[in-house]
Amino acid sequence: MASVQPQGRTRPRIVVLGGGLGGTIASYEIRDAVKDRAEVFLLAERDSYSFVPSNPWVAVKWRTPEEVEVHLPPVMKKRGISFSSVGAERVHPAEKRIALRDGSSLDYDFLVIATGPDLAYDEIPGFGPQGFTQSICHTSHAAAAADAFEAFCADPGPIIVGAVQGASCYGPAYEYAMVLDTELKRRKIRHLVPMTFITAEPYVGHLGLDGVGDTKGMLESAFRDRHVKWFTSARVTSFDDGIAHVEEVADDGSVKAKHDVPFKFTMMLPAFRGVPAIRGIEGLTNPRGFVLVDKYQRNPTFPEVFALGVAVAIPPTGPTPVPVGVPKTGFMIESMVTAIAANLKAIMDGKEPKSEATWNAVCLADFGDSGIAFVAQPQIPPRNVNWSSEGKWVHLAKIGFEKYFLRKIRKGESEPFYEKLALHALGIDKLKF
Ligand SMILES: Cc1cc2nc3c(=O)[nH]c(=O)nc-3n(C[C@H](O)[C@H](O)[C@H](O)COP(=O)(O)OP(=O)(O)OC[C@H]3O[C@@H](n4cnc5c(N)ncnc54)[C@H](O)[C@@H]3O)c2cc1C
Repeated sequence: MASVQPQGRTRPRIVVLGGGLGGTIASYEIRDAVKDRAEVFLLAERDSYSFVPSNPWVAVKWRTPEEVEVHLPPVMKKRGISFSSVGAERVHPAEKRIALRDGSSLDYDFLVIATGPDLAYDEIPGFGPQGFTQSICHTSHAAAAADAFEAFCADPGPIIVGAVQGASCYGPAYEYAMVLDTELKRRKIRHLVPMTFITAEPYVGHLGLDGVGDTKGMLESAFRDRHVKWFTSARVTSFDDGIAHVEEVADDGSVKAKHDVPFKFTMMLPAFRGVPAIRGIEGLTNPRGFVLVDKYQRNPTFPEVFALGVAVAIPPTGPTPVPVGVPKTGFMIESMVTAIAANLKAIMDGKEPKSEATWNAVCLADFGDSGIAFVAQPQIPPRNVNWSSEGKWVHLAKIGFEKYFLRKIRKGESEPFYEKLALHALGIDKLKF
């Protein structure tokens, strides 16, 4: 584990907290934006970056964890970014200081919070890798799920996939259901596996976005095609060993029906909340522990604090019978990164921040043999662009995206010029102009 070295401070220090999808590229992009005028410091809790969108593939052994990980210290050194994986115990924004897990402290002039989600498995009895269900949220969880899936295939039975009440990330649940279907067909045991998709969404394909294009029609049709049954507006009250206790909720909030759904293998996505290092800080986070930000990604109470990615507080698209959160997807996160880098540069130039992220959702959901893609601009309806499409090309595009993104992380690049050009040509921008 790399450790924090005391340093004499001759220039402002920008700490990026969290070395995941958003934090890693934020470090690169902020480094490029502020050049040598500030020290950029990435404070992570692991030495490795892991490409979370590949987790559904890790969870059926189509990828090993090593194939989707990047060792960060050498890249950070090459890019002139200070790095530690000691982890934050607690952020103290009033003191512009982070208490670290080794008992020391790291002070900052600017802080970019990119800590992603804390997984709220404890909110439902029996839920999660400590209980009776599998997880794909971390790559290590996905590797454990892959082992459980191998054991399952030797003695198959019913499968449940889905997302529980309060979840905000639905795409990976659909992906994993379809990937499991594809893998079970390859093993010629699909006929032994009844599959049920259980979701808090009011309809299949809502995705926390009130649908994008025809995601409802496409995903319902894909489920019919693949013999996957579903429950929507579902609330899981508990999991026992082999049984999920599920309530179907009516539009008025009453319980319409109760089901005890048997399973031999289950993966349901949990609700997210902010991580303990930032949760419950007055003025910084909302009651769920997500960071409050203005249109410049800056916290109103502590203006030297910015936030991006899953750590950011975003209100739901509208009321639903069961709580459904808004997803924070990769491209949307990259748009937040670009806005923060531009705003920090403006501050270094003695100007006011003025860059706003578009928060557009551009997503590829892989089915293992095909997939669906969608573009939502803006993310919350009504939209200027509301497009979805399906086909084998999506599966190939997702593989290409994985390789491309991992290459960017290994090389220490955030957005090479050809990516900027391609996105501009497609009319997909990261900043509002
Ligand atoms: C299984 C899955 C698949 C997904 N697939 C897609 C996809 O295909 N396309 C898409 O657009 N989006 C996808 N997403 C959504 C989203 O893009 C990812 O969740 C993305 O990883 C979120 O980025 P982030 O930087 O906000 O958080 P993360 O990538 O989770 O990074 C947060 C980082 O903060 C670190 N951290 C937390 N607490 C501390 C602490 N106290 N001190 C130091 N470090 C800390 C964590 O270790 C982690 O590295 C997926 C999400 C999941 C869960």
